[in-house]
Amino acid sequence: MGQTILIVEDNPVNMELETDLLELAGYRVVQATTAEAGLKTAREEQPHLILMDVSLPGTDGLTALQQLEADPVTQAIPVVIVTAHAMKGDEERARQAGCAGYITKPIQTRHFARIIAGFLASSNSPTTPPEPKAGPKEHS
Ligand code: MN
Repeated sequence: MGQTILIVEDNPVNMELETDLLELAGYRVVQATTAEAGLKTAREEQPHLILMDVSLPGTDGLTALQQLEADPVTQAIPVVIVTAHAMKGDEERARQAGCAGYITKPIQTRHFARIIAGFLASSNSPTTPPEPKAGPKEHS
């Protein structure tokens, strides 16, 4: 089983795209469509990484990031902010709040899984690379 990634995203198209790309790369994905649900799932699942949308119904993703960082149960989990709003203030706020990374939408489908793998590798948590999908053995 690969590492677990929690996606907090309220847009169904983005959720499906991100989920497909990560599952294809061998990760286990858990989903939440609000920050409130995401915080609960983060505590319960202890994912290896959280992808956090900024614009969400209810609590926004940057506030949720601050709450994750303030909670001893979740503060060690790296959080990557994913946003359509390429606002300088947002990125600065996210980095000050301790995000592990910052991705701007639209998602780059060809590179997304590799970018996430990079964030996992550079995070402090002990990590192992995701297991590749079972495939035919290499020809020698
Ligand atoms: Mn959103």
